[in-house]
Amino acid sequence: MAMQPDEVLAILRETGVIREGHFLLTSGMHSDRFLLLAQALQYPRHAERLCREMAEPFREAGVEVVVGPAVGGIILAYEVARALGARAIFAEKVEGGMALRRGFAIRPGERVLVVEDAISTGGSVRKVLEAIAPFGPEVVGVSALVDRTGGQVDFGVPTRAVLTLSIPAWSPEECPLCRAGVELVRPKG
Ligand SMILES: [Zn+2]
Repeated sequence: MAMQPDEVLAILRETGVIREGHFLLTSGMHSDRFLLLAQALQYPRHAERLCREMAEPFREAGVEVVVGPAVGGIILAYEVARALGARAIFAEKVEGGMALRRGFAIRPGERVLVVEDAISTGGSVRKVLEAIAPFGPEVVGVSALVDRTGGQVDFGVPTRAVLTLSIPAWSPEECPLCRAGVELVRPKG
């Protein structure tokens, strides 16, 4: 049965995913909320449930490979792949972007679903897409656990999120928390 947004939020709250403060995001933007999704994914029963939900919109898409960005996307790729009967690989940070390592490869035309824990600017997803492009995959879509942009991001392929939130993010120049002198934290996420 499909999960209601309330159920998803309840899991995120209960497991301590949602942190409040003044955070420097990977994108360089500042925000008053940070999502530590690994907090929810440390429980296999939650990971399984949430990832089944991520898989659902792509159940008929013939997905053969699920790929996510390390580290956050490893468990997601694995669990989503399990739900879809596909295989799971991950891309890792390298100088200037991301790459498939460890002998991971994609056959030309293989049907790929890209997964991500939280989309804030979409930077990690774009790096994964760039990393796999040389293999000539057929990218069927992007599935995220949380879309922080309120659905504003466009990867040129169908993109779905289990939960869509509009969490504000500001450039350092525009950040009201900076202006108020609140200490900036680089979250260990
Ligand atoms: Zn700030």
